Formats: sequence, C-alpha cells, structure tokens
Amino acid sequence: MKVFKFGGASVKDAAGVKNVISILGSYPKDEIIVVVSAMGKITNALEKLVRPKNKAEQKEVLEEVKQYHHKIATELFPDKKDSIFSVLEKDFTHLQKIVSEYPSTNHDERYDQIVSMGEVMSSHIVSAYMASQKIENECIDAREVICTDNNFREGKVDFDKTRNTLQSIIPASWKKKIAITQGFIGSTAKKKTTTLGREGSDYTAAILAYCTDAESVTIWKDVPGVLNADPKWFDNTVKIDHLSYQDAIELAYYGATVIHPKTIKPLQNKNIPLFVKSFIEPAAEGTRIDNDLTQLPVPCFIFKVSQVLVSLSPKDFSFIVEESLSHIFDVLAKYKVKTNVIQNSAINFSLCIDDSEKVPALLDALRNDFRVLYNTKLELVTIRYYDQATIDRVSIGKKILLEHKSRYTVQIVMQDK
Ligand code: ASP
Ligand code: MG
Repeated sequence: MKVFKFGGASVKDAAGVKNVISILGSYPKDEIIVVVSAMGKITNALEKLVRPKNKAEQKEVLEEVKQYHHKIATELFPDKKDSIFSVLEKDFTHLQKIVSEYPSTNHDERYDQIVSMGEVMSSHIVSAYMASQKIENECIDAREVICTDNNFREGKVDFDKTRNTLQSIIPASWKKKIAITQGFIGSTAKKKTTTLGREGSDYTAAILAYCTDAESVTIWKDVPGVLNADPKWFDNTVKIDHLSYQDAIELAYYGATVIHPKTIKPLQNKNIPLFVKSFIEPAAEGTRIDNDLTQLPVPCFIFKVSQVLVSLSPKDFSFIVEESLSHIFDVLAKYKVKTNVIQNSAINFSLCIDDSEKVPALLDALRNDFRVLYNTKLELVTIRYYDQATIDRVSIGKKILLEHKSRYTVQIVMQDK
C-alpha cells in the first residue's frame, strides 16, 4: 500500500483536481490510499462560521463556500445532471444545518462539526472526478476509520482501534481500486466528528500508513521538497534531498510548515519512508525522509513572527522550583497554549508563545501567582545545524531578547532595533 496526500493547494481549483488525476495516472491503481484536504483556503472560511460576527457574515461565508465548490464541480463535470451536484447540495444543506443549529456553548465541538465539511466536500468532488475519468475508486469516510478521544479540535488518535477498524472495513476490492478519504478528520467512540489540529491531513496519511503497514507515504506539495528555509522569508533556499526522521521531527516541531509535526513519529516507528514531492513537477526527485542518520549539509532556518515573550517570577520571591514549574505547565495546558521556547533561572521563567486570542486570559491566570512581564510583536528564529556566522546573519539590525542553544539547535527571540 502507498499513501498519497494532496493538500488544499493541490486541489484549489479544477486544474488542480485534474493534475491529481494525472499524477495518479503514472502509478498502478491498486493499493493506493489518497488522502485529500479541504480545497484551497476553505478551512479558513469555515472557521469563520464557528462564531460568525453576525447573520450577514454567516450568510456571506456560507454562500462563498457553496460557490467555491460549485465552480470547481461545474468546470469538472460538463453534464449539469451529474450526480456530484446533488451530492454537494446534500453536503451543503448539512453544513447549513450545523451552522444554524449546533449549540455554540461547546465551541470546540461545534468547530469540528463545521470545519470538517471542507474535507468531506473535497473528497466527494475528487472521488467523483476520478470515477468520471475511469479511475475506479471508493470514497471512504475517515470518520468511520480514524478513532479519536473526545478532545475536539485536537483529537488524540487511538491507533489500535483505528487499525482494527481499518482492517475490518478494507474490502478485498481495495486491492484493485484506489481508496480515497479525508485528511484531518476522525470521530469519537460516539461517532461525533473530531479534527486532528490544523494542517492535520499529513498526520492522517501517516496514521493510515502505520495502520496498513504501507510501503511509503508521499505528500504532494507546491514546493520541490523540504527546503532549508521558507522562501517567504529567506532568499537562496536549498532543497534537501535526504532528511533523517530525527531532523524532520525537529524541524516540524520548531515550526517548519512543510510537514505537520505529528506525521513523522508513526512512520519512524514502522520505518516507512516519507517523500515530499512537487505536484507541479511530479517526476522530480523531491525529498526522502527515512532512518538514515546523515547530518544535513546546510543549516536549516525556521522563522516565526507575532511572538510573545513572557517572563514570570514568583510573587513571593521564592525560587522557581518544581512546584512552580508544574503550576505554570498546568496553566499552559488548561489554556491549550504551546510554548515555542522556554528558559528558566533561579527566580525567572521565560516562555515564548504565538500571539493569539488565548494570550490575555493565560496571562491573567498566571498573574494569580507570578509577576508577569511580557513583550509582543517579536520574531523567533530557530536554526538547526547553526554556526556563529548564520546567527550573525539572521540577527543583523535586531535586538536579541533571548537565546537558547543546544548542541544542534539555537533559538533566538528578537525584535527590530
Ligand atoms: N484543511 C485542514 C487545514 O487547512 C487540514 C489540512 O489542510 O491539512 O488545516
Ligand atoms: Mg490545508
């Protein structure tokens, strides 16, 4: 079994969907699982429906979502009577119903019911188009397969249960046709839809590969492979041909957006290689990620903006000891805030986090026990395989507020001078 994942950018329009089919054309059609994300930026649009500002916004976004899919379907299916149109109509009516009826009291649960529909509609279009191009396929609802706990928006996957479910539903026919399913979504034991965290479709591909002992996973992207920096921020980026699981985990963990951080571990545990390849140039090499431990030939940079550096000191002037540390992490867990860097000294604990709507409430909670100081609008650069020259290069014209070095990685929190 091979698992292919096509993200939102690869199916953002009719030409993208056609390209997916042409890529599949060069592979044998048996034993492939295709995982698709929501089309284009539909997930962002759907997020607005979770807490719309007013009825007018709700109506406008619903219309936008409907028209987006309708336009793609219209370009792919010249016959206006094609069954895809009634399938999409049904999906859309369902979305409308959740948006207007699902209680807003449980925000995260409502989020998953709404936002998951992007993947559902995308998979319906791609599957129907494959069929119209005579590619035999079966669209599997990921919610029947991917079993999670009740942690909405960040569902924790039960791998054993998922493997058992998958094996019980994999029909023999899968061996002859392509299976297509949605990334990013799963369901609880009570069959309530959950999601696995933003950009989670890569993770779905890894889960499915793990559970079917797949021979490989390929993530098809709009870049030639894993680059040593995001071209959005850095010039002269270099494509990395070969990466160890270890480096890939570290880079993804520090915020390289090319692969979702949870993707690598399941693959590493079963030694399943991961390829990152360009859907624009599908024949090109791309990047291979596996257990080979060769060190990277170039430094890798990960750049994050909108960072907040928080500095905590105990109000009673005691030291930062285990109890205060555990208290800080309890508060972080309660507000679901992830730290990008942490550093502590005797009476001070610093943490760098992404700026978000959660920050004010988090700081208030910390103020109960700590004196809280913070700076906003900061940048965080992480360099793996750093040397002093690369540090100097990225910090020209910047004031360094925190520097955290380990053997292979340096993290620098800085602001403009
Ligand atoms: N559609 C989801 C998102 O945009 C999942 C994914 O693309 O991987 O976050
Ligand atoms: Mg996406």
